[in-house]
Amino acid sequence: MIVFVVNCGSSSIKYQLFDMTDESVLARGLLERVGQSGSVLHHRSDETTHEIEVDAPNHTVGLKIILDTLVDPKIGVLKNIEEIEGVGHRVVHGGEQIRESTLIDDNVIKVIKDNASLAPLHNPPNLAGIEAAMSALSNVPQVAVFDTAFLATLPPRAYRYAVPRQWYEKYRVRRYGFHGTSHRYVTLRAAEILGKSVEEVNLITAHLGNGCSMTAVAGGKAIDHSMGLTPLEGLVMGTRSGDIDPAVIFYMARTAGMSLDEIDTTLNKKSGLLGLSGVSNDMRDCIEAAEKGNTDAALAMEVFSYRVAKYIGAYFAILPGCDAIIMTGGIGENSLPIRLRICQLLSNIGVIPDEKRNEEAIRKVGLITADDSKIPVWIIPTNEELMIARDTRDVVEQMAVK
Ligand code: AMP
Repeated sequence: MIVFVVNCGSSSIKYQLFDMTDESVLARGLLERVGQSGSVLHHRSDETTHEIEVDAPNHTVGLKIILDTLVDPKIGVLKNIEEIEGVGHRVVHGGEQIRESTLIDDNVIKVIKDNASLAPLHNPPNLAGIEAAMSALSNVPQVAVFDTAFLATLPPRAYRYAVPRQWYEKYRVRRYGFHGTSHRYVTLRAAEILGKSVEEVNLITAHLGNGCSMTAVAGGKAIDHSMGLTPLEGLVMGTRSGDIDPAVIFYMARTAGMSLDEIDTTLNKKSGLLGLSGVSNDMRDCIEAAEKGNTDAALAMEVFSYRVAKYIGAYFAILPGCDAIIMTGGIGENSLPIRLRICQLLSNIGVIPDEKRNEEAIRKVGLITADDSKIPVWIIPTNEELMIARDTRDVVEQMAVK
């Protein structure tokens, strides 16, 4: 079965084409600057990346360009677009209504629209991608895979905030969580690696990229998670603050005269590693600056690592056991000093890093702790696109059975 995976942002379309007989990637790419001048398609097939200047005034035209490229006689990989048997869409927010990957119908579209106010930067472009794919591939089943779905198992004690009940009932203020597809992928891989069934595995999974989140997984199910109503809560991120005292917002409004919009932008786009270091949101730049003696960059790395360690400690305390800590995402998969520092900060709960193993596990599965570490720490590269492709295949196959 050929499955086309689409991830639409406000001005971009990321895609991968899978042959699910062996889960191989036939082509992948990114269309940038959708709706702007100077759109560029980066299309990769046969181990070659093609850069093509195109005119993509909207997602519908952009998707048509991508589909035409997939059947292009020179750089395409399909003879005919009808070879595609399922389209999988990444959708960020399914709210409380959708708990698993679902065939897209009018009700699913309504749910995506209903939750747009909770994910204003993501759900509208995700929907634009769905509508574009539905018109270009009208006979092909379209499946929505929600970032929030894996976190739908959080119990009320983890997802409710201690605010008036009406805030939850009327305005749906609660913890939803994000990056669920990544946390689910590494959970499944970890179970395989540890030789356990998913239902018996207890884990702490840390997705450490430009956005960062952590999930406590008990018996294969998410029981707590660090992101909240929005992806601002929890760990320190590239440009997001993560946890702060909410009173900082009132204080800065009253004392510094900042508007709510300014504070919102500052906490989402100018904080985190960027705000602390004054150098960059990119961990590589922070590490480089710290090595040259920049103490702000060094502090940014330490605050980042300390926050991760603190959350791991909290999740260790609430889990029924912990078979492993998993790190993934750009920083988790690559950043040796950060991984090492997090392990060092966890020595009180018996984590013992192994520096040589840490150096070997770059962008690949690997154990980075010593054999006598009380809790093993594993690096598992994430693969959200493959997870979306698998779900799409499963939903399409279930349709055929019905
Ligand atoms: P992601 O959002 O998952 O693509 O992750 C982006 C983050 O991963 C950025 O902070 C990058 O600096 C970090 N990253 C990627 N490659 C490396 C690397 N080789 N060393 C350190 N950090 C890295």
